[in-house]
Amino acid sequence: MTKIIVTGAAGFIGSHLVNILLQQGEEVIGIDEFNDYYDPLLKRKNLATFENSPNFTLVEGDIQFLDLSKLFQDVEIVYHQAAQAGVRNSWGQGFRAYTERNINTTQVLLESAKDAPNLRRLVFASSSSVYGDAETLPTDEEISPKPVSPYGITKLAAERLCGLYHKNFGVPFVSLRYFTVYGPRQRPDMAFHKFFKAVLQDEAIPVYGDGQQTRDFTFISDIVAANLAAGSLPEAVGEIFNVGGGSRVVLAEVLDTMAEIVGKPIKRNHIDKAMGDARHTAADVSKAQKILGYRPQVSLREGLQQEWEWVKSLYL
Ligand code: NAD
Repeated sequence: MTKIIVTGAAGFIGSHLVNILLQQGEEVIGIDEFNDYYDPLLKRKNLATFENSPNFTLVEGDIQFLDLSKLFQDVEIVYHQAAQAGVRNSWGQGFRAYTERNINTTQVLLESAKDAPNLRRLVFASSSSVYGDAETLPTDEEISPKPVSPYGITKLAAERLCGLYHKNFGVPFVSLRYFTVYGPRQRPDMAFHKFFKAVLQDEAIPVYGDGQQTRDFTFISDIVAANLAAGSLPEAVGEIFNVGGGSRVVLAEVLDTMAEIVGKPIKRNHIDKAMGDARHTAADVSKAQKILGYRPQVSLREGLQQEWEWVKSLYL
């Protein structure tokens, strides 16, 4: 049994990761502060799927103020998912939460990681937003990152901190740059969740810009698989990997697929393009394929169907 820490354990991605690790018989310490970026009740629901497992311990609090050196004592793997996500709120007043939860929190974690006696991996949840409007699509990890949002800046800063602690103190980090993750438990501020909810309430879907933006949507179970590989394969240490869904899709086409799934036309309300949103994202996943054995398994239609079932169970 491996002792593992998952930060952001009650969030969308962290909670799925905990589910799988417990299924695999590991011992998991989940850290989360249940902040109110979105309804903490949703996080409690995520947590309810594993909180009574005998191999699970919850540590509730802000990572910046926890006694991490004690927690890290015999931990072998840390999956660092906790962060302030979301591009749009990272402008203006909101920025402080991004510097604290993304940069400062990661720095504090790395300080403890450098002295942790048994640590063999720290997997950092990075983001495609570090690329901004990348000149080459699909984008590989070699391209120079040029974030177009304050959120992207903070994720890049945190990723670079991981690199510094690796170089100077040997912290065995791996960075995974996720491309738009979706599926059951998706955050309520994310597009598909908002879209399906609007359908249920018979409201028009808010579409930023002309709907011709493209995204590389990645299903949650593929993200979890990439994390497990990054947490175990020695060749991954010190490396950065794109984790995408394997194909680039025009948003307007996704809405057509959604309409087929929900069985009725979807009303669209076009609103101004959001500042900080990249026009196109597409992951070149050949490095993850080669080193992590990563291959996205879930098609967009199949993944959307699963998210639709979950959104219905949440709101109906
Ligand atoms: P989420 O908001 O659902 O989960 C993050 C969790 O971290 C929350 O439950 C929050 O309460 C917790 N948290 C934040 N700061 C904390 C702190 N200082 N101490 C303790 N707990 C704290 O977000 P998510 O969508 O699951 O994203 C997980 C990670 O993946 C984040 O690092 C995010 O930047 C990254 N990411 C997500 C996506 C996506 O599409 N969802 C894409 C790229 C990268």
